[in-house]
Amino acid sequence: MSSKRRRMIFFFLSMLLVAAMVINACGGGDSEPEAADAPAEEAAPAAAEAEESAAEAEEEEEMMEVDLSPSEYPEPQLIVGSREVEKLPLDQILTYKALDSYSEPEWVSELVAEGVLPPVEERLPVEPRVILESGMSDGIGVYGGVWRDFSACPTEGYNRGAGQSAGWFGIEAAAFASLLKSGPIYRRSDSLEPLPYLAKSWEWSEDGYELTMNLIEGAKWSDGHPFTTEDVLFSWEDMIVDSNVQSPKGASAWVFDGEMTQLEVIDDYTFKFVYPVAFPVQSLFQMDEGDFHISPAHILKPLHPKYNSEMDYVDFEAAMPPDKTPVVLGEFVPVEYITDELMILRRNPYYWGVDEAGNQLPYLDEVVFEKGPSGVGRTLSTLAGSADHSNLENPSTFIETLKRAEEDDAHFYVEWGPETLGFSIKLNLSTTLGVKDDRDAAIRELFRDVRFRKAFSFALDRDGISQSILRGPFLRGWAGGLFPGSSYFDRNTVAYYNHNPEAAAALLADLGFEDSDGDGVLNWPADRLASGENLVLALVTSEDAEETQTVGDAAVTLLGDLGVQINVRPLNSAARREMNEAGEWELRVDRDSQTFAVPFTRCRELAPIEREFSFHREGSEPRELLDFEQELVDIALAFCVEPNTDVRRELMAEYNRISTENVHFVGVFVGRYGLAAAKRFKNVPAGMPVFMYNWTWENVMPEQVWVDPSEQIEQLRPGVIPTYESE
Ligand code: CA
Repeated sequence: MSSKRRRMIFFFLSMLLVAAMVINACGGGDSEPEAADAPAEEAAPAAAEAEESAAEAEEEEEMMEVDLSPSEYPEPQLIVGSREVEKLPLDQILTYKALDSYSEPEWVSELVAEGVLPPVEERLPVEPRVILESGMSDGIGVYGGVWRDFSACPTEGYNRGAGQSAGWFGIEAAAFASLLKSGPIYRRSDSLEPLPYLAKSWEWSEDGYELTMNLIEGAKWSDGHPFTTEDVLFSWEDMIVDSNVQSPKGASAWVFDGEMTQLEVIDDYTFKFVYPVAFPVQSLFQMDEGDFHISPAHILKPLHPKYNSEMDYVDFEAAMPPDKTPVVLGEFVPVEYITDELMILRRNPYYWGVDEAGNQLPYLDEVVFEKGPSGVGRTLSTLAGSADHSNLENPSTFIETLKRAEEDDAHFYVEWGPETLGFSIKLNLSTTLGVKDDRDAAIRELFRDVRFRKAFSFALDRDGISQSILRGPFLRGWAGGLFPGSSYFDRNTVAYYNHNPEAAAALLADLGFEDSDGDGVLNWPADRLASGENLVLALVTSEDAEETQTVGDAAVTLLGDLGVQINVRPLNSAARREMNEAGEWELRVDRDSQTFAVPFTRCRELAPIEREFSFHREGSEPRELLDFEQELVDIALAFCVEPNTDVRRELMAEYNRISTENVHFVGVFVGRYGLAAAKRFKNVPAGMPVFMYNWTWENVMPEQVWVDPSEQIEQLRPGVIPTYESE
């Protein structure tokens, strides 16, 4: 449907709504039941009554003149210096195939000549994973170089499958490998499915109950041991399914309709999932980094309490300590760790990927993570020139980084990703949870009336708010619903009730609010709240996010101008969590989750499906879903199990239309996460989001990043490869 036609329909519907309101206003009161039925001429009114109805008619006319229709949601403004994502079909990004010959860095060949390592073709699989030149922004690379980064989390150890953290901030992504990879989905034009990684392909059975996974054949762990379905089976049975092991994602993630998924091994390189339901396609997203962790069976099985009576689960969790080089499948292997100071990772000589010219990947020799107490350190180190990458996540810190990036001697550039950094105001839609008196009950009823939610939305000057947080093209208004940067977003589905104080005032008047005592604040109509007190609402912001407080202050002014008094209360995250669980809140400013960027991976959070749904939580009494909320639930449930990407897009278009037309929540502004990265890095994909399906290190495909020899900086441990004690 064209946007013009859609707008006309919106306009028509809005006029119908206005007409319905007028009828309500005339026929709603008990005192004049006949007024709505009887035409005015037949009522033969007395002079006073005539005057009154003339005044009413004038009011009606005024109401008719107020345009309550949504405006068109604008196209995003382009930011100078930022590149658009170059979307490609998967077969132009990578493939799996044998090449005529393979090569490696010279210093690695020397180790082969010395007998330290087998020749490269013996270390590689039969058909390695090949990164294609057509998908590289700077082409085939050269060897050498260092990536310096920063981690603000302690490294507990490398038994990730038992819940240990290797230090986050990209360390996991650099060292470990998963069955599939969802980080680079943003690069795909053919589908919104994860990319193959250790699993090179997969097929659904016709009935959708079985999913057969084909592993890469002949890949090896960083100690040279073959990777097979034995590792997958061990990771499943003895890590994920064993409830004594604190896996990052436990067995419950694999339960559908109360029944557990089964995993069956077919041969060394093939296995299948047998599901209790048809096409749980969403489970593909549970096979990526951090969800289905692939652990080395040859290392951990002998140490697992099930097979070793001398071990308990606490010992088992600590079986891959931080000071011992771990056996991994990723591009880089941690070879040295100084607690709270430094981690050095070196190229994995057994990494099972190559470029199209047969060069074994990665191109870089070394990755160094400086350790620090807080995430701000990453930005500070990048500004100071000692780190090569930072993610810009808080608009309040953008300016300083941008200023530095513009200086001639800056070693990094800044690039902006898609619009997926959104802030919104939620209205508590529960009729019971946290409701303690008549006033609470009246507020919830008011919030459940679409006219009030629209009035609230119309009150907000989103462009003004955006500019007050950060001047320039970085932030702009957001209607709510999906983030404009989501692959599922369609601008034409947005009902944008943006800044229109006249419309907001008309809707508040229609709801019966009037400043009866003339103190500047609207009073409740007696039929909504008998006390007739002023309309005063409490809005909670977050102490940890400056932007939420700016939004709160703006709401105080903008709603205040309309006679709605807002009291702002900043809370820390612990207090906010408690408040949400008890349901004891009215309005809330949120920094929104990535549900609205990558809805498919978090489909059950799109609508009030779970009892814990963010702003319509169920308490001890059953939840009363609004009609449109039920529609959103139905769409989300269908979406979760829809295998076809095109149908999924249609479902999300409908979802976004219903969510924004009904102002399910009030979007305020949306911005972009920024990437700060070293200028010397080549092959960082254009327009790469720092956070979408995953974070930078998963999104960039670090094995393809290279540095021109003239710009390479000194390595801390040149010539070092991971070594393991022989048993
Ligand atoms: Ca008042």
